[in-house]
Amino acid sequence: MNLIQTFITKNDCYKAGRTIVPKGIMVHSTATPGVMAKDWFSRWNKPGLEVPVHAFVDDQFVCQHLPWNHRAWHCGDAANNTHIAFELCEPTDWKTNRTYALAAYRNGVELAAALCRKYGLNEKAIISHAEGYRQGIASNHGDPDHWWRYFGLTMAGFRADVAAALSGGQGAAPALPENRPQLSEGSEGAAVTALQRRLNQLRIALALAFEPLAEDGIFGPRTKEAVRAFQSARGLAADGIVGPKTWAALAVSYGDVDQNGKVNAADALRILQSAVGKRTLSESERAAADLNGDGSANAADALGVLREAVKGP
Ligand SMILES: [Zn+2]
Repeated sequence: MNLIQTFITKNDCYKAGRTIVPKGIMVHSTATPGVMAKDWFSRWNKPGLEVPVHAFVDDQFVCQHLPWNHRAWHCGDAANNTHIAFELCEPTDWKTNRTYALAAYRNGVELAAALCRKYGLNEKAIISHAEGYRQGIASNHGDPDHWWRYFGLTMAGFRADVAAALSGGQGAAPALPENRPQLSEGSEGAAVTALQRRLNQLRIALALAFEPLAEDGIFGPRTKEAVRAFQSARGLAADGIVGPKTWAALAVSYGDVDQNGKVNAADALRILQSAVGKRTLSESERAAADLNGDGSANAADALGVLREAVKGP
């Protein structure tokens, strides 16, 4: 998350100078295609406007315009007194640009997690503008759901991703099981947990349309749907059964940083280059690179990639 702090000191809301004790976070999206996070400062840093939020978020930047505990005017109702608000910026091709949507979503998750830490909140305190309306504390808008629905993104998923970020990532992920048993609905055990964790990690990397799975080692209907989504994305028969081909595809997708369909030393090299600051990984590259799921791509992941490379698909 790349935070740029420039306060809109000429705006009436800034000058009003009222503060709040943040009790929650409200997620908006701009419904203004093509106007990115950095573009909003000049639009709002002037008097006579009554609609500021705390920050704008796009695929690259978080631009903060008000102190987080400043009372913003973002939702036309009671939540102005309690909620920190940020807007996710929508790109020109907002209905089809999945890569952008996921990158902005990811930045939103990071920002929300940081704000939860700062104000002692948890993911349950996060709502969308649309949810705020349904709770009677915000005006009638449908954001950001009206946009996210094109990519299978939901507020439930957003909260789950913030919860994962707050728990410090999901810890070191187990490698794929050595024996890679066939798994299907009704299977249980450590191999299922490893499968669920890997599907959760691949969800963002491959833009798979399912909500994060509980990593409980129980292969239920939701795990089956997630397997089917993965199989479709990888051109396999979407039967929801994890056999040798699906295991192989899981191994390749995960660690295939350059997304050329192979896991090899080039992927490990990319990870090491990013670890020493010589390369910036895109959002999907980073998700594929974080082999052990600890939230960063580093030498441990590069080693894991080399192990997968030796094992072959
Ligand atoms: Zn809104």
